Amino acid sequence: MTKWAIVADLGRCVGCQTCTTACRHANATPPGVQYRKVLDMEVGTFPDVRRVFVPVGCMHCDEPPCRDVCPTTATKKRADGMVTIDYDICIGCGYCIVACPYQARYKVSKPTFAFKDQATQNELARYDERLLGVAQKCTFCVDRVDYGLANGLTPGVAPEATPACVNACLSKALTFGDTDNPDSNVSKLLKRYKSFRMHEELGTGPNIHYLWETEDE
Ligand code: SF4
Ligand code: SF4
Repeated sequence: MTKWAIVADLGRCVGCQTCTTACRHANATPPGVQYRKVLDMEVGTFPDVRRVFVPVGCMHCDEPPCRDVCPTTATKKRADGMVTIDYDICIGCGYCIVACPYQARYKVSKPTFAFKDQATQNELARYDERLLGVAQKCTFCVDRVDYGLANGLTPGVAPEATPACVNACLSKALTFGDTDNPDSNVSKLLKRYKSFRMHEELGTGPNIHYLWETEDE
């Protein structure tokens, strides 16, 4: 089997938000919609504190609450782990937006652009009317992954088959790959270093893994 996931090395992330920018370019998301966000957090107890940047977005959960509450089956989970939304079936009820514990979903009802009424060339090229009034979120750049697989490329290795945020990361903090393949880039990182996932206690099985300490013993 295949299970696509992202590994985010928090020791490498510098909070530059290049991933956020790359995602917004790739998807031309409107103002207020960020499929890939980077949280700026302080951890520890004074005076032993540390500033940490945490990339977040749809976790493509193993047991996605967003799918379970969807009354129309618009939200689905593929065999390779991707959680998708069928925009033609979604009725925009917003149940999934409430159910998602990671605040990964958005709904936009009318066209809005970065510079008010004037759409940029990129926004025009990527404008998709189907996204109005329905749920939307990070897709793990499913189109790129599927394109890559159809053309013999390895997602997470070949840039054409890899999510835009991962390609753009200046400090190589983000890695995309198949955690079901023990020889993949992500599996090697998870085997070598300690990791955690966000709100694992909820049983959602999120598929963004975070590396905290990557110093070799
Ligand atoms: S992070 Fe939220 S939107 Fe993404 S699969 Fe999990 S519950 Fe659904
Ligand atoms: S907004 Fe769309 S995807 Fe979300 S629960 Fe309603 S029908 Fe399903």
